[in-house]
Amino acid sequence: MKSRYAMTMDTQRCVGCQSCVLGCKAENDLPEHGFRDWVVVETRGEFPTLTQEIRSQRCNHCSEPACVTACPTGASHVAVGGTVLVNYDKCSGCKACIAACPYSARYVHAKGYIDKCTFCLHRVQRGEAPSCVDICPTRSLTFGDLSDPDSEVSQQLRGRKHKVLEPERGLEPNLYFLQ
Ligand code: SF4
Ligand code: SF4
Repeated sequence: MKSRYAMTMDTQRCVGCQSCVLGCKAENDLPEHGFRDWVVVETRGEFPTLTQEIRSQRCNHCSEPACVTACPTGASHVAVGGTVLVNYDKCSGCKACIAACPYSARYVHAKGYIDKCTFCLHRVQRGEAPSCVDICPTRSLTFGDLSDPDSEVSQQLRGRKHKVLEPERGLEPNLYFLQ
């Protein structure tokens, strides 16, 4: 069966320390203005009955990626495990993908091409977890293959309540937030 890479993000464990953001920046040598992941703090309700959700977010590596459909040069494409990547050599920097992505997952690199999370495929392909998963001190992030029912991500999704962001858009995100 074809692999389907996915990530889970445990909102009960995350403390918003931003280690995932800094780890990604260092691992992928990102420019000062560039981020492939970021932390969102969402506060709901009214004082004094407030609740807060902290989420480490990144590209959802959507199964129906609007960015790939919008890309006129074929630079944005679907690779191994359904991972959505950008071929920098083919990217004209037209920003059509940025306009198409409702999750604001992409930015313009100083070198002119568009950049985003790669699920750290270079690490995954040598048997390591993505940098953000590895560095998280609270073990909030898990990466794995949803086509394997025994993988940790598959087990988590069977056992825990979870959500994806803006499912109504129909892009079928593969970043799951455990509740
Ligand atoms: Fe949350 Fe872990 Fe990222 Fe810290 S490193 S913000 S705990 S996901
Ligand atoms: Fe494309 Fe945005 Fe989905 Fe990532 S989150 S695959 S950039 S549409």
